[in-house]
Amino acid sequence: MVGLVLSCVMVAVLCYYFGAVWQTNSEFRKRYDARKEVALRKFPYPYRAGLAISSDCDNLETLAELVEIQTFMSTKEMTSMGRGLGLDFAYNFFFFEPVEEAISYYHPDGQVAPTLRKLIRAGDIDAIHSFGKKKDFVREDAVRAIQEMRRERLEIEVWIDHTQAIDNLGDDVTFGEGDHPESAAYHADLTLAYGINFVWMGRISMLVGQVAPIGIGSFMSLFDKQHALASCKNIGKELAKNVLGVFGSGKYAIHGTNDLLKISELDDGQKVYEFVRFDNHWKGVAAEDNARGLEYLISERNLGRLKEVGGYMIVYTHLGKNKGYDSFIPEGTITALRHLAEEGESGAIYITKTSKLLNYYLAQKYLEWSYEVGKDSIRIVIGNINDPLAGEIMPSKEDLEGFTFYVPVNTPTEIYVGGQRMNGVVRNRADHTGKESVTIKEG
Ligand SMILES: [Zn+2]
Repeated sequence: MVGLVLSCVMVAVLCYYFGAVWQTNSEFRKRYDARKEVALRKFPYPYRAGLAISSDCDNLETLAELVEIQTFMSTKEMTSMGRGLGLDFAYNFFFFEPVEEAISYYHPDGQVAPTLRKLIRAGDIDAIHSFGKKKDFVREDAVRAIQEMRRERLEIEVWIDHTQAIDNLGDDVTFGEGDHPESAAYHADLTLAYGINFVWMGRISMLVGQVAPIGIGSFMSLFDKQHALASCKNIGKELAKNVLGVFGSGKYAIHGTNDLLKISELDDGQKVYEFVRFDNHWKGVAAEDNARGLEYLISERNLGRLKEVGGYMIVYTHLGKNKGYDSFIPEGTITALRHLAEEGESGAIYITKTSKLLNYYLAQKYLEWSYEVGKDSIRIVIGNINDPLAGEIMPSKEDLEGFTFYVPVNTPTEIYVGGQRMNGVVRNRADHTGKESVTIKEG
């Protein structure tokens, strides 16, 4: 009898689990259902996947180091690491941090703040890495920093928790009090009012490709025969996080759906878009979150899988954690980064900065649109972005930049927003799926 009851419970649990996974997977598939005559393409044409390198600013000890790495990553100028990569890449920054650990906005070197301002205004820094580690951090410190950002018109909408800083917003990985109204470090009301929309609170996924259906292959792909035992452990852990997420664990909710972002409530009741970053190093999450470990995270194998599943990926690293190498970025990682840049240039992977990838995805997730098939033309009608936190927004051309729709062969297509026909809609040849498309271009 007991055996029968246990079996029934087991079956019910399995049915619930697979039912929930099936539902999440079908939501992703429905959004990009290419069987329809006109369908939203997941990434701008011709890209098959989307990726951002999200490098936290820890251990950038000097301004020269920051500028040299930034120049190498985002320009094609000559640097000490060779010709720059020209990636669309952005760093993050601190207001406070012990001088011996990293540069920060309030660093005694008077050159730091003006350089950070320049980088932020140019979009080469697009996130704040908490206000920083300051032993006696209190709300007044946040007030001072936010006043400075307002005065200098520094626009930042991405917040990334630092390792256990008191002003962090996360509760269960990065342990902060920044959103606890009773704490002296409380600042979340001011920080969100200033313009923070996306928050990272310590969640890391090992799965290659978010916003992609989960299957057994998602977990098995973590197997690395050179590190068989360690990678099997990772498979077990990641599967457990997924199961816990499906069964309602808040800590692993995002692992349960494999989405890129979710709405999370802070302790003070405010809501934010919380996002997940990626790190599947065989030694374990965050075990090699440094310049050397990045080589593994953007290996040919991982990028190949990312394209195969057509996913999003925000890669977690610290390019400033580079002690003991001849150059700022170790040789192996430079080679991997050059390969990544080729994937971008050849039109395979859409490589952009964290803030841009998050905004693009948010608009895709909540965009309302429809289409009408005329006698010999197609009209795509763009509605609002039904942003659950900001409300209904009529998208600007900037919000829609890169948006691509699959359309039937040889059928003229027009796109309308707010009753107006959009200019700058470009027709594309068939991509790897054999389908033609149109893209909303900038300008
Ligand atoms: Zn950090």
